[in-house]
Amino acid sequence: MKFARVVSSLLVGYSLLLAPAAQAQKTYLHCGRLLDMRTEQAQTEMTIVTENGRIVAVERGYRAPTNAADKVIDLKNRTVLPGLIDCHVHLESETSKNSQVQTFTQNPADIAFQAATYAHKTLLAGFTTVRDLGGSGVNVALRNAINQGRAVGPRVFTAVRVITTTGGHGDPTNGYRLNLMGSPGPADGLLNGPAEARQAVREQYKRGADLIKIASTGGVLSVAKDGAAPQMTEEEIRAVVETARDLGLPVACHAHGPEGIKRAIRAGVTSIEHGSLLDDEGIKLMKKYSTWYVPTITAGKSVADSAKIPNYYPALVTPKALAIGPKLQETFGRAYKAGVKIAFGTDAAVFRHGVNALEFQYMVEAGMPPLAALRSATVSAAELLNQTSNLGTLEAGKLADVVAVEGDPLTDIKVMQRVRFVMKQGVVYRQE
Ligand SMILES: [Zn+2]
Repeated sequence: MKFARVVSSLLVGYSLLLAPAAQAQKTYLHCGRLLDMRTEQAQTEMTIVTENGRIVAVERGYRAPTNAADKVIDLKNRTVLPGLIDCHVHLESETSKNSQVQTFTQNPADIAFQAATYAHKTLLAGFTTVRDLGGSGVNVALRNAINQGRAVGPRVFTAVRVITTTGGHGDPTNGYRLNLMGSPGPADGLLNGPAEARQAVREQYKRGADLIKIASTGGVLSVAKDGAAPQMTEEEIRAVVETARDLGLPVACHAHGPEGIKRAIRAGVTSIEHGSLLDDEGIKLMKKYSTWYVPTITAGKSVADSAKIPNYYPALVTPKALAIGPKLQETFGRAYKAGVKIAFGTDAAVFRHGVNALEFQYMVEAGMPPLAALRSATVSAAELLNQTSNLGTLEAGKLADVVAVEGDPLTDIKVMQRVRFVMKQGVVYRQE
């Protein structure tokens, strides 16, 4: 009995791939314009055929169903794209003046209901897959509920909790009374030294992590003085990466300052998140190590905006938000032009969920062509997630994750902010 329970909980994380939504019939999507992300150009008058949650054919012309039970969906006035992927969200929370107090007022059940709402919004905005880069652990239950059809949301790959050092970015006790909070250890993601780094990784694995998230530098929203200086030794990061690698988990690293960015790259992390103060040496290292960059420009802009509202953030946070937030867009532009690998990510939660597609606009403003921005949220994000056999393009064999917009995103990227159609794994969640 006990053993059966353990086995079934291990399988839950993969159930999305093993148990697609049951559907007897085929669905024919008539696509006026199709950006399948395999070719550079939009194709016109195409048909996507889906069955049992997967794409079974992509054909020229508007094909008629062969079976009476089959369904046709008219997207002749739409541009159709693969489901979008946001590689950096936090589904458990959302920015608010009360964030600091909520630590003491919210029970896990409150967080769960809230997270379900944010997940729903994210899916309706066209994001059919996300990486959740840290919360309380409710994100694991949310992922499982979505996979089992008990909640509506994007496919979630979760890091469970952020792994950081004592007093570091993501230490959940920063800024609170010591006698109330104590000093958490590796079980809660707090490490000091390589031995605890290994334990912290294994603890997240045990809780159901799909990947590991660390913070190698300070951060803007933690109630602590410094937002950019290194907070992990290279030896600690290396211990994280090696342990994660043994467990088959990629490592996403939050980093703002150049030293913490470089330590993380050299230690072999999979992606740098934010990378706000990335310098030329860091860019060279990212190319040498083939490190992904997840820019989160939207988060940078929104923390800088929120910091202008009096008392929105605790006093220690405001100056960091004003100093670091505005850097991201320019840094992203330099990294893109230098040829760093970019995967789309926003840090939704730092701003409200459901407006993730703002990031496309900011990427294009910084000099990235619209098609490249769209590729970063499809093909490239799928690569970062190790999911190229399931996600990222519209072709036979992939999961049927399909979105559609009105107009042409290649000439007006803002249309991505008004997604009109969302299908995830063959099931339609939005159609207008
Ligand atoms: Zn984040």
